[in-house]
Amino acid sequence: MQDFIKKIEKLSKSLNETYNAKSVVSALGDFFAENFGFTALEIYTRVANSDEIRDFSQSWVINEKADELKYLFEELSAENIIVKGEYIYYPFYKHNKKIGMLRLEGNISDDFMEFMKLGIYQISLKIQNIILAEKMQKSIDFHDSITNIAKIIESQYELNYIIPLIGEMIDKFISNHLIYIFLKDAATGEFYLAWPNMCRDENIFNLIKTITPKSVTILTNEGRTGIFPLIEENKVLGCIVTKSTDGKLTVKELEYIQQLVNQTATTINRANIYGEILKHATLDALTGFYNRRQLEERIKQEAAGARRQKTPLCAIMTDIDHFKQVNDTYGHAVGDEVLRTVSKTIRMQLREYDIAGRYGGEEFAILLPYTKLEEAGMVAERLRSAVEKKAIDISRINPDIETKFINVTISLGVHEFNPRENDGELLKKADKALYTAKETGRNQVVISEKEKDE
Ligand code: GH3
Ligand code: MG
Ligand code: MG
Repeated sequence: MQDFIKKIEKLSKSLNETYNAKSVVSALGDFFAENFGFTALEIYTRVANSDEIRDFSQSWVINEKADELKYLFEELSAENIIVKGEYIYYPFYKHNKKIGMLRLEGNISDDFMEFMKLGIYQISLKIQNIILAEKMQKSIDFHDSITNIAKIIESQYELNYIIPLIGEMIDKFISNHLIYIFLKDAATGEFYLAWPNMCRDENIFNLIKTITPKSVTILTNEGRTGIFPLIEENKVLGCIVTKSTDGKLTVKELEYIQQLVNQTATTINRANIYGEILKHATLDALTGFYNRRQLEERIKQEAAGARRQKTPLCAIMTDIDHFKQVNDTYGHAVGDEVLRTVSKTIRMQLREYDIAGRYGGEEFAILLPYTKLEEAGMVAERLRSAVEKKAIDISRINPDIETKFINVTISLGVHEFNPRENDGELLKKADKALYTAKETGRNQVVISEKEKDE
């Protein structure tokens, strides 16, 4: 009897020193080894709202052993302790409801059975407390994260930045699932994978095509695949997809995702609106080129890049020849159409990372990063030739005039950036070359003299 009380006290003491599932398993393992000669201990608990059995110290469900564990768990009772091979299965309860079992490796003894009548209550209580604490921690973490995310989202409008953040967030809270975020391209209406880099499941691509602005969460494949549409202001912006690797989404997890989905939809919508606003603030409305202010900004950046990386950078200044005549002959509206067409023609000749800005009324500045003077001269010549050849349709603008198509020409000056010069010299020297082109006949390219190195 004395011995029994001592053991109970020892058990209490070692459990008091535990604070998470792993330390409980380890303390109990030591205790049973020392007092009853068991060589190993595992604890299994039933997953809430499910009949899955999980390893208590791990967050996953044991797949290979799932059926056997489920069967043993069903059969097991306080009156029916199961001995199977070298293992002993011992149940524990919460208010008469079976919630888990211990698996001990070794031999069962009368001492052990006597001890467990009382000992199992303490063990069960500890396990319940740990589960509760973990659950609370998870909701605290979740709450914190939602608050953090809300803060970040308020200050960030870059989808490239926000989407991975949200993806990782969901990934953290949803166990046993792969998470995908798809966005819908507003221009093409196609879904594309925005996070992570790869989705091998063709089936998912087919499923998400069916999303409409009226869609709600779709659970298919016996709840193993979840499609959560991202809808805001009656527009489909994309969707979040969960794909089970083990087990189904719990009710709690569904709630988590739903909250994040709502937040994500709002964020994407705001980022899109912001992007539109930004476009208007930086781009010239008529030509779609950078406006003067933004162009100056880009010159600073490109000049700094060229200095730092020691890469060549060229500028082309161009001006439409006798443009006043166009306005005077056909009217201002036709003049605007000429500006639109010429800018489009220029853009089509450039590489994606070349920078085109509207410098003044009918003057454009073009920055060519990673380009040497000779190459820039060729680009300029290509621009000149493309504009000269372009027949500009003015019938749509002014159907009353007989002329349906007109042609214009441009003059161009080219200058290569010199790291020893001020940034401002880049366009100034190109403009000087442009002036020479105008002076000496128009519809031509003039290359700025390279300063001799000394
Ligand atoms: P040159 O090529 O030799 O310089 O002759 P030009 O007639 O082009 O002379 P200049 O560059 O001085 O005149 C530019 C004209 O472009 C003046 C102005 O009426 C017109 N212009 C400037 N901005 C706009 C615009 O946004 N729309 C229209 N339609 N015309 C514009
Ligand atoms: Mg002009
Ligand atoms: Mg001009």
